[in-house]
Amino acid sequence: MKHIHPDYYDKFHCIASACPITCCKEWKIAVDDGTNRQWKKLSPPDSVEEHKNNLSAYTCIKDGARVIRLDCRHNCPFLSDDKLCRLVTAYGDDVLSHTCTIFPRELQEYDTHTEESLMACCPAVIDLWRDNPIIFPADIPGTPLFLIRDKLIGLVQDTTLPPESALLEGFYILLELYRNEPVSCAQVHEYFSAQSLKELHFAMTDIHIPEADTVDECNELLQDLAVNYRKEGLYTGYLQDVLKETPDGSWQNFSDMLACYDVLIRNYLANEFYSDLLSPDDSGRNLEHMVIQYQWIIIEYTAIRQSLFHIWNDSGGQLSYENVRDYMVILSRMTGYDDDDIRTYLENSFERLIWEWGYAALIVGRY
Ligand code: SF4
Repeated sequence: MKHIHPDYYDKFHCIASACPITCCKEWKIAVDDGTNRQWKKLSPPDSVEEHKNNLSAYTCIKDGARVIRLDCRHNCPFLSDDKLCRLVTAYGDDVLSHTCTIFPRELQEYDTHTEESLMACCPAVIDLWRDNPIIFPADIPGTPLFLIRDKLIGLVQDTTLPPESALLEGFYILLELYRNEPVSCAQVHEYFSAQSLKELHFAMTDIHIPEADTVDECNELLQDLAVNYRKEGLYTGYLQDVLKETPDGSWQNFSDMLACYDVLIRNYLANEFYSDLLSPDDSGRNLEHMVIQYQWIIIEYTAIRQSLFHIWNDSGGQLSYENVRDYMVILSRMTGYDDDDIRTYLENSFERLIWEWGYAALIVGRY
């Protein structure tokens, strides 16, 4: 089976003790059945603070899945003070669960090939996206779904369009394709042709959405996303700075500052498209999954942007690379739901599972 991946993939290495936001805290670390069986026979290293009979005793069932039970500081009990994994130190890499072994890699196994990518949940990954546009594999299957994804990535990598415009124009075309299913590759090429894009872009320049409405709505979305994490006391160090009244600073000035991170933002969005818009489970099925995932990516992006608006506003108009990286990582961890949970969240939070284009325009805004 052919394995393909974006150009940055092989450059990744975990920075372990130097990591500013280690993955060994504040989220669900899954333990698969095979690992759990092995863990029942292994004693914890002496350095683990709370001593139990075996490694499995440090797990619990949460939301239907076996995970490592975090300590009172929300840390993995195997994380040492110098931010190394005590299990790896004692037993080597083979003792790790599947989740810990592959993180932050993501694999999608299609009939024709396997796609590998890295997740935005890791700061070392964001560092790889900081300076240069990602180059994605060109040799993808020539089916309408892969072609649509390819075109959407191309749109968000087109530096003549602000990322917001690319997101909205892409969503408009995606909705049109969804309403006109089944679509052929020829139709996809037509919708994304230079002439069609030019007409669409021209039509959208006439649409004006008050900035205040965008900012208010994004603030509410961010608060909603954070409700459960707040209750559990997770990510408080980051959330306390951004869960507030809508900032009163100039959106335009903030947007100008955010444009300094244009390469990173486009890379973030393009990588989300690459890894999340398609799933091997829906090969040959309709476009609904892609539309739902696209909406979720819009929510993720607008939540990151709204968080950064707060940080920028409260720091007298400053926004460091570390701010941008950290909120990309944290919001990506907070929104890393599986497909069923994303669908449930959207069904419970919005009038319709599939939005009108106008709602996307309200939260994405334009500048
Ligand atoms: S978040 Fe990334 S760099 Fe940090 S410890 Fe985890 S894998 Fe390593």
